[in-house]
Amino acid sequence: MRIVLVGPPGAGKGTQAAFLAKNLSIPHISTGDLFRANISQQTELGKLAKSYMDAGNLVPDEVTIGMAKDRMEQADAVGGFLLDGFPRNVSQAEALDEALKADEVKLDAVLDLEVPEDEVVKRIAGRRICRNDSAHVFHVEYKQPKSEGVCDVCGGELYQRGDDKEETVRKRLEVYHSETEPIIDHYRAQGLVVTISALGEVADVTERAMAALKKSAEA
Ligand code: AMP
Repeated sequence: MRIVLVGPPGAGKGTQAAFLAKNLSIPHISTGDLFRANISQQTELGKLAKSYMDAGNLVPDEVTIGMAKDRMEQADAVGGFLLDGFPRNVSQAEALDEALKADEVKLDAVLDLEVPEDEVVKRIAGRRICRNDSAHVFHVEYKQPKSEGVCDVCGGELYQRGDDKEETVRKRLEVYHSETEPIIDHYRAQGLVVTISALGEVADVTERAMAALKKSAEA
């Protein structure tokens, strides 16, 4: 399957993407994770991306599209993938359409995770992520680790992403509404959008997502 996951920052895209990709046996491709890996390896791409990310802005399409396409061309993604955080504006969506067309393949669904705006800010400002694996996500209120600052899963250090500070979150939300939301209409015109609520327990949201994807595959 080829799936795009969309939703505002804080909708739980990274967490859901990890579970869904595992359930569907397809790779989870997150452009945010690819940028963060470049930042920790101090590559030129990482240095460029960091300035945009810390301000809550989108990294320019010139570098983002090439990076996403390179990752999609790797062997593990030939049979399908779950894209998390890409495309994030209409021109990226158009570039993805073209790349898929050139490979004579199609998207199966665009899964839209819905969550109210005040919930988003609460979720992100308290979020703590493991340095070893960004799918290990904790929260200072909703999901406290057994030992403060330490990942329950692998013992890694928990940290707050630079772009999870409240001011940056508000900027990221603004960018989501102006740049990313229009891709939902772009894909609605292709009959691909499946919307589910991202509220509630992580496992319940995964179940809802799996059921919605199954229904859309049968339609
Ligand atoms: P994420 O981990 O998906 O929340 O992404 C974190 C940050 O990385 C975003 O706020 C952007 O600055 C940058 N980013 C991730 N994916 C993209 C993309 N497709 N286009 C532009 N910037 C991106």
